[in-house]
Amino acid sequence: MTVTVWILGDQLLRKHPALIAAEKQVNRDQLVILMIESEARTRRLPYQRKKLVLLFSAMRHYAAQLRSAGFQVDYRISPSTGIAIEQHLQSYQPEIIYTMAVSEFGGRKFQQHLEGQFNIAVTILPNTQFLTGRFNPYPSPSAEKRYVQERFYRKMRQHFNLLMETDDEPIGGRWNFDKDNRRSLPKGVEPLQPISFHPDKITAGVMQELDQKYPGVGQVTGFDLAVTHAEAHKAAMDFFDQRLPDFGPYEDAMSSAYDTIYHSRLSPYINLGLLDPLVLAQEAQKRLNDEQAPINSVEGFIRQVVGWREFMYWQYWRLMPDIAKSNYWGANRPLPQMFWDGKTEMNCLKHVIQRALNTGYTHHIERLMVISNFCLLAGINPSVVNEWFLSAFIDAYEWVMLPNVFGMGLNADGGIIATKPYIASANYIHKMSNYCRNCAFDRRGRTGEQACPFNFLYWSFILRHETLLRQNPRMTRNLLGLRHLDDEQRKQVKEDAVKFLDRLE
Ligand code: FAD
Ligand code: SF4
Repeated sequence: MTVTVWILGDQLLRKHPALIAAEKQVNRDQLVILMIESEARTRRLPYQRKKLVLLFSAMRHYAAQLRSAGFQVDYRISPSTGIAIEQHLQSYQPEIIYTMAVSEFGGRKFQQHLEGQFNIAVTILPNTQFLTGRFNPYPSPSAEKRYVQERFYRKMRQHFNLLMETDDEPIGGRWNFDKDNRRSLPKGVEPLQPISFHPDKITAGVMQELDQKYPGVGQVTGFDLAVTHAEAHKAAMDFFDQRLPDFGPYEDAMSSAYDTIYHSRLSPYINLGLLDPLVLAQEAQKRLNDEQAPINSVEGFIRQVVGWREFMYWQYWRLMPDIAKSNYWGANRPLPQMFWDGKTEMNCLKHVIQRALNTGYTHHIERLMVISNFCLLAGINPSVVNEWFLSAFIDAYEWVMLPNVFGMGLNADGGIIATKPYIASANYIHKMSNYCRNCAFDRRGRTGEQACPFNFLYWSFILRHETLLRQNPRMTRNLLGLRHLDDEQRKQVKEDAVKFLDRLE
């Protein structure tokens, strides 16, 4: 009897449930592990080339590790997943396929139809790459009910016993230290760059292949990420040792000089299964216990990994497929060319877009308060924004992109995921960064040729959607600002916004 274990490229878990289950059924020599690089999937969008280097190099290293542990691996580079599976079945004639549930909607549908399509028994195991695959705080959500991230997060903390004094009492007396985490980066503070890894033979081979045959976003040159469990562990320890203590206070800070500031840059590894979110949260807690990091940093990090990441995955599955069609603000503008070349006089956008195109990474606040903020204010269509993010970023997968772009970034779902639209004028960007200092635009100007576009776009958005925004109590402060605009100024911001958007190509 032969048993196939199909391991997908973003499921590179140390302990893969399908492999564990199959090993309980048969001996190792009756097992064959199937891994597939699908050319059709790779060409669906012009993906970030560094992301593909990461994905394929990590997959090939994983296959090599399995082989040296004595497993037989059928590693296929194929025109499509379907063709690879068909050829695998012909070559090995397995009786059953074990696999773990795909994290994405379309992929899971494909997996669910495998049995009928190929006439073979298939066992799909729960996805343990997410903590909600181990504990789901709301297993039967109702369509009408509103689920707030903060409550979801508290349930996760209680269940996984993270930062808990007792069953109900959080350590430090508060669940959330967000208020302590809003400092800009002071002059003279120089965060260390994350650890980098020199490409080995496998990685160099992938880089060469992609360079020759794949015209995606960015360049393969300069790839320096971890591609194995051991390297990803090193990257995590580098974060805990060097940056976690300052992660909290500077979580929202932005800088033209530093990409990562004190962020972890671990999302590419967590999303591939090279790192386990619970292990990371527990390590952060250990740093608090050992007095190596303060509570606001540790809680801030745990909230991102165990709160936001899991909440987004959970919402994705609750809201698919409708979320992908949502467009609450009726935004229909195409994506401007500057998103593909970074050519703009808006200094903040220029830096952040170029960073995304070159490295595939920007931290959360730059994704949210610069890029998405601009797209929401400028009325760019959510689907094209989503495709751009999916293309440019190194950690991009549909399950994380859809809720973050349609929900958090653009509020296109009408506020199901986030409780308010994240919109801001130049004031916020100036407060949290050094971008405005070297910008062609005047951050204080509200109207006129030199005025920062974020300002007139912001006020014109508020005026255009005033009735809808008034229904949200969390927008009261933003709406109060309207008191300072007389009729003439209101007319002017609207005209300047139209003029600017007409010129945007
Ligand atoms: P840190 O700030 O160090 O946070 C630690 C970890 O928390 C991250 O590695 C990540 O795993 C998790 N996390 C934090 N916030 C979120 C969130 N909102 N959703 C999911 N996980 C979160 N994250 C992705 O992994 N892939 C994406 O493609 C992606 N696209 C985004 C697009 C937009 C418009 C926005 C607003 C956010 C997006 N995020 C995405 C979420 C978040 O910005 C990134 O996870 C984070 O910036 C990754 O950098 P880091 O590892 O340094 O994170
Ligand atoms: Fe960005 Fe406006 Fe500041 Fe320029 S002035 S960096 S466009 S916020």
